[in-house]
Amino acid sequence: MDFINKLFNKQKIECPRCLGKGNVDWDDIKRLKNELKWIPGQCAYCNGSGTTSKSLQSNIPVDTSYLTIDLNSEEQNKIKNGDKDSLKRAENYDIQTNKLLNEIEFLHFTGKMNPTLIADFYLLNNREEGFDSQSKNEMLDYVNNVINSKKESKDQNSKFVSNQTELNNEILRDYKFLKGLYNDSYFPPFLLDKCKSILIDLCFKIENNQTTNLDELYKFSHASTERINDLENEFYNNGSEIETGAREIIAEDFNFISITYGFDADIEELIATRNW
Ligand SMILES: [Zn+2]
Repeated sequence: MDFINKLFNKQKIECPRCLGKGNVDWDDIKRLKNELKWIPGQCAYCNGSGTTSKSLQSNIPVDTSYLTIDLNSEEQNKIKNGDKDSLKRAENYDIQTNKLLNEIEFLHFTGKMNPTLIADFYLLNNREEGFDSQSKNEMLDYVNNVINSKKESKDQNSKFVSNQTELNNEILRDYKFLKGLYNDSYFPPFLLDKCKSILIDLCFKIENNQTTNLDELYKFSHASTERINDLENEFYNNGSEIETGAREIIAEDFNFISITYGFDADIEELIATRNW
């Protein structure tokens, strides 16, 4: 058995999740962007050994939030061996978790619910499982963490998109991009902010290049469309999608930008490179 182990374990590398410590700490969690999904503890990726086989990463990404020591060992082994059903469960788990995070964000920032109320709301849903004051505090801490982290990224994003007020064109300076989508909890606000900043960037490109040529406009609008394409996975991972309604609203914004800068463009041609 020793011989077999040696033979197959030859290709051992330092565990990319815990960096060889055998346990995952807050630095690892931040590095792998799982702040709201993990807490420090033994590393499930290497089983606390600090090393993994070289092939593991091709079976399962190191940041897979589903794979923690809380998962039963049978399922841990399955997913490490690249079992398709387990990987599907991992994907669903991540989508559900992201949905919960977006829901908390929506209840707080749009629904104006305070953290205690939100925590009570989730505990009520799980009433049949019973809960004590400890789980109530844990839930409240979690809700507060989510809100604080979303607040931080909102501040960063608003810095990023606040430059709309620096546009030369008065109409676009005051224009409400992505009308209606912000009131729909199906669309994570931080992803809408990303779309919005892409549209504002397009305005800046037109202004800075003093574009009057239709071909040049198409070149710019295609590049912006492709940047929105790149968000597709992020939408999907957050249980959302640029579906028909959103597609029309985004297309209208492209058209509005074009008309406002005096172009007579074809709306379908503006977004010809879209995947959505
Ligand atoms: Zn590890």
